[in-house]
Amino acid sequence: MGLTPAAALAEAAAAARACRLCAPQLPLGPRPIFQLDAAARLLLVSQAPGTRAHLSGIPWNDKAGDRLRDWLGLDRAGFYGPGLAILPMGLCYPGRLPRGGDAPPRPECAPLWHPRLAPPLRHLRLTLLLGRYAIASRLGPAAARDLAGTVAGYAGLLRQGVFALPHPSWRTRAWAAARPWFEAEALPALRQAVAAALAP
Ligand code: SF4
Repeated sequence: MGLTPAAALAEAAAAARACRLCAPQLPLGPRPIFQLDAAARLLLVSQAPGTRAHLSGIPWNDKAGDRLRDWLGLDRAGFYGPGLAILPMGLCYPGRLPRGGDAPPRPECAPLWHPRLAPPLRHLRLTLLLGRYAIASRLGPAAARDLAGTVAGYAGLLRQGVFALPHPSWRTRAWAAARPWFEAEALPALRQAVAAALAP
């Protein structure tokens, strides 16, 4: 008899937490950070943990997380509850770029772990793609290059159970200020979709 989704997820999560595949490339060493529950109804595919998440072991435990929770209309209890799964494209903090900003997620990570960690999530109603790497992985590189166009197409994506978003870093404030439709139209639609996905 095969494993139940919860058992398959527990087994895959334990294997992922022990992963050291790209340890030589990680300046702070491996510390895979994700939040997964087989009963989750909302999946957040994000980029990679930052230093605060690496140090605390808690995903989105920073100002960008506060901004994200505001976008989603969730408090910390709702965000860290079992209904919401968090699966980054890179599970470990990847370090900094020489010119500033966090390095991209390690490219070997998602192809290795997403096929094991995502399938046990069988109750998903909505998948949020956060930032260019997550958007490229699910919608293709052209969608990631045209970030604003892809985010603006939220109504069509919602019919597929998907919502694409920019990464909620401080840089996004300027991005959003140049696109008033994001806060006026896209975020209310997002909050409504998130509430519906998490509703009993
Ligand atoms: S980033 Fe991914 S592949 Fe690399 S050590 Fe961490 S879990 Fe393993």
